[in-house]
Amino acid sequence: MPTLNSNVEKLQNALAQFENSGVLHQINGKSIPSQSTATFQTRSPVDESVICNVAKGDAADIDAAANAAHAAFAEWRDLPAKERKKILINIADGIEQRAEEIALCECWDTGQAFRFMSKAALRGAENFRYFADQVTSARDGQNLPSPTLMNITTRVPIGPVGIITPWNTPFMLSTWKIAPALAAGCTVVHKPAELSPLTARILMDIATDAGIPDGVWNLVNGFGEDAGKALTEHPKIKAIAFVGESQTGSLITQQGAATLKRNHFELGGKNPVIVFDDADLDRALDAVIFMIYSINGERCTSSSRLLIQDSVKDEFEKKLIARVNNIKVGHPLDPATEVGPLIAQDHFNKVTSYFNIANEDGATIAAGGERVGDKGFFVRPTLFTQADNSMRIAQEEIFGPVLTSIPFHTEEEALRMANDVPYGLTGYVWTNDITRALRVTDKLEAGMIWVNSENVRHLPTPFGGVKASGIGRDGGDWSFEFYMEQKHVGIATGQHKISRLGA
Ligand code: NAD
Repeated sequence: MPTLNSNVEKLQNALAQFENSGVLHQINGKSIPSQSTATFQTRSPVDESVICNVAKGDAADIDAAANAAHAAFAEWRDLPAKERKKILINIADGIEQRAEEIALCECWDTGQAFRFMSKAALRGAENFRYFADQVTSARDGQNLPSPTLMNITTRVPIGPVGIITPWNTPFMLSTWKIAPALAAGCTVVHKPAELSPLTARILMDIATDAGIPDGVWNLVNGFGEDAGKALTEHPKIKAIAFVGESQTGSLITQQGAATLKRNHFELGGKNPVIVFDDADLDRALDAVIFMIYSINGERCTSSSRLLIQDSVKDEFEKKLIARVNNIKVGHPLDPATEVGPLIAQDHFNKVTSYFNIANEDGATIAAGGERVGDKGFFVRPTLFTQADNSMRIAQEEIFGPVLTSIPFHTEEEALRMANDVPYGLTGYVWTNDITRALRVTDKLEAGMIWVNSENVRHLPTPFGGVKASGIGRDGGDWSFEFYMEQKHVGIATGQHKISRLGA
């Protein structure tokens, strides 16, 4: 069984790979610094110590990476599906072999607890394995016969794509985007988040060892406003798959306008969990707690608004407060830790600013509402009660271990409040009345809804949000709809009459 001490020791070994040259880009198969030689530092949110230097890419590095992805595209597209599949499976094997090292680096770089990151690393392997299985059918099409034509459709990869990922669970999210792009036959330029670059570099090394050809997958580190922006503006990049804030999604739309980019956006959320009084309240309590306080609450699908029926509110909140006060905040490498430090100073400031906002708005801080320790970015899991849906704590994405509880009386009222936010990523409904569940899920404005369950991902299902939570879906065949183009070919089935002009 791992312990904090054994994990710290293993982390030191894992970090040795970054000791000499830090985190470099990978362009056209070469591990290189920025053309400008500029670097920045990545720090651990545990104690703010510098982990290593990171190459700070800009438009020149993006240009080199996009050119490499462009040059490698035709060969990767035309590689027999069987061979592409083999490489993806090799990558999945490589991730599994290095899963512990990935989890340790992810925890140190992001502050996420080891208990969740060890699973997230393996999820990354699953993503590659799942999309490896789809490679052979990715180009499949239909026959849509008309009286005079056999109309066949096929899909072709769109070309080189840009993938821009955020700092929360960065490893898993990178695999979720890169695996289907490669399976579709696209080449990739990946720009990971500047706050958590370590595991994207490990993933790149795994792919290189797995036999990914030069230029097929390129990695450029750097900041959103230079490397990220340049990627979204590059004419050789045909599409951008982006995971991050809604505001950034809006900027990327503007930046990509001149080159008519196709965009896929997975953005923010303010997801409701609606608990009706007829639900299995013990299971609901477990799920409510898990879906907001796991992964530090830095999770797009977190259920950050609890809508609780007034008839069971007092009892439910009482149990909730006891459990929230009991959540173990601590060192992310301690296997017992349930909540680690927030990612960085700015984000810590943002999350903790809501403690004052809650007070100003007239809500009650029923649990937490304070920092833990004086080093690093630890906050106590927090619960706001006596809130209403118009308050900022109910409308804005806080993206930390912070839950706002709001009572409702009727189903209509619950639905109205659930939908009365700018976002629409996920929703969670707890009831044992099946007709109510059907009514509510039908009206809930969200891309993904779970009934009597926490969020359990099934890879063939569509993932994505509505309203300010995103555009497009991925998962299963939906990923290929984004990374591929439909092509129609009509073949005459007989000597049908061709219209004649000037005859
Ligand atoms: P962010 O938007 O600040 O940054 C995400 C990425 O975009 C980073 O790599 C950043 O460098 C880059 N970027 C920033 N400005 C850019 C620009 N102008 N052009 C191109 N790239 C740019 O988001 P974040 O703070 O890293 O991540 C947290 C957010 O991500 C939250 O809102 C969360 O809800 C969202 N998220 C959504 C999902 C989902 O599936 N819907 C999943 C995870 C995270």
